[in-house]
Amino acid sequence: MLRPHLRSVTTDGLNAPITFAAPLSVPSTRRGAASLSLHHFAPKTKNRRVPRSNVAAPDEHRPNRVAIIGGGLAGMATAYHLLNSTARYAKKRAFSHTDLRLTIFDPAEPGSGGASAAAAGLLHPFTPRMKKRVWAPLKSINATVHLVEQAQSCSQQPLIAYPGILRLALHEKQHNDFRIAAHRFPDELELLQPNQVADRFPHLIQNVSAIFLKKAAVVDTPAYLQALWRLCQQSERIEWRRQAVHDVRHILGNDTASFDTVVICAGAAIPTIEGLSHVPLRLCRGQNLLLKPREQSYAHETPVISGKYVVPDLFGHTPGQQIVAGATFEYDYQEDNPETFTQHLCKRDTDRALAELKQPLHDIAPGLIDKCTVHGTSSGTRALPPRSADGSIPIVCKLSGTDRNTSCWLFSGLGSRGVLHHAYLARMLAHAIVAGNERLIPVDARRLQLSLPLSEVERTVAACHG
Ligand SMILES: Cc1cc2nc3c(=O)[nH]c(=O)nc-3n(C[C@H](O)[C@H](O)[C@H](O)COP(=O)(O)OP(=O)(O)OC[C@H]3O[C@@H](n4cnc5c(N)ncnc54)[C@H](O)[C@@H]3O)c2cc1C
Repeated sequence: MLRPHLRSVTTDGLNAPITFAAPLSVPSTRRGAASLSLHHFAPKTKNRRVPRSNVAAPDEHRPNRVAIIGGGLAGMATAYHLLNSTARYAKKRAFSHTDLRLTIFDPAEPGSGGASAAAAGLLHPFTPRMKKRVWAPLKSINATVHLVEQAQSCSQQPLIAYPGILRLALHEKQHNDFRIAAHRFPDELELLQPNQVADRFPHLIQNVSAIFLKKAAVVDTPAYLQALWRLCQQSERIEWRRQAVHDVRHILGNDTASFDTVVICAGAAIPTIEGLSHVPLRLCRGQNLLLKPREQSYAHETPVISGKYVVPDLFGHTPGQQIVAGATFEYDYQEDNPETFTQHLCKRDTDRALAELKQPLHDIAPGLIDKCTVHGTSSGTRALPPRSADGSIPIVCKLSGTDRNTSCWLFSGLGSRGVLHHAYLARMLAHAIVAGNERLIPVDARRLQLSLPLSEVERTVAACHG
């Protein structure tokens, strides 16, 4: 088992001390170098401090029995940080973070539910046009790499690889955008001319330029979540109940059988939970085609994204080779049973995925589908947040409407970038829960005022008292 040497560094806006693993080596993956380093994406700018006047007085409520609804990337990372990164906030409120008892409710097993189980695992900070980075890029990447490093101590196999990612310029405008981007971020991006693309990637479309994201990584998301769960279990303060929660009010309360704190991390299923249909998420199912090349020589070494992606099996799970090609964007998809997003696959799904993906994949890698056998699909539903001027920013907030002895929090809207954003926001959310202070969550993420409506009976009682 790997035992990383730990040292203390400061990363978040409030200068909270957290421990980060020193750079750590894991066995090489079959085709990608898997050396892990926190400093791979070292921040170039100083972190912004939150002015003291912006930090509100904490709530009276102190968390003790915490329920997390949904154990995907959002829920699992929140659990990890509640267990491990909240000591200083608990101490300030005269209790110990080791008093926290956590229960994750999820009908699926760790690493097998929701969009997280279908994620291709691509980790990089750039927008599709490459000229900008997405919201909170460096804090997010560092937090993800840190958490993967922690989880690595509970896994024998590498959980992350650094093969880089290639993005092809399929038209002139893209070429110009990539040229500007390579000039702007020379440490991270390399512009490749058409002859270089042809030499290095002969199986891809020819006569196009490309940009290479030198530091981009791929996370084996299901294996990472399973390892993170094993790590959380070491605390002996957490349990997993394979059970769906359809109404938060059934588990939130002050009696001994209830939870005083509930954190809702059910991804695309959130609008189906009683009282939460108003959460402004746009749902979009994504399917991947799982391909097996017929010829051994037809090998993809480097993940490619150009509208769609083609990602080789860097972690060597499948005998022979597997390529994950995706993903569809199905905005009109209606799920009969939203808890089982990844399980409902049938020929109709594969046909739909093939119909949507065949041409765009051909534009990237001509003949890819013809040279492979489609041996299945995987799917998940993205929960897309409302777009802001800074792009897609996930939703993390405290829900109003609970009494003063309980609290309810929501973490969703990770959209298409959950691997990137989950760990940073989970840490901030865990701090906010234990400090009883929503303002520890980045202001952009808590921009929405959402409530958990009281039941009709409680509403009547509240009105009488009011
Ligand atoms: C095909 C595809 C490819 C993707 N590729 C990438 C990528 O390469 N890089 C990237 O950064 N992001 C990617 N994403 C996005 C990423 O997967 C999501 O942003 C992320 O997984 C969302 O995590 P989550 O925890 O919020 O939700 P989910 O992963 O959906 O987790 C929700 C959990 O809640 C459980 N649940 C549902 N209903 C209930 C209930 N009523 N009670 C209790 N539990 C419940 C589910 O079983 C599930 O485990 C991809 C998404 C898809 C669909």
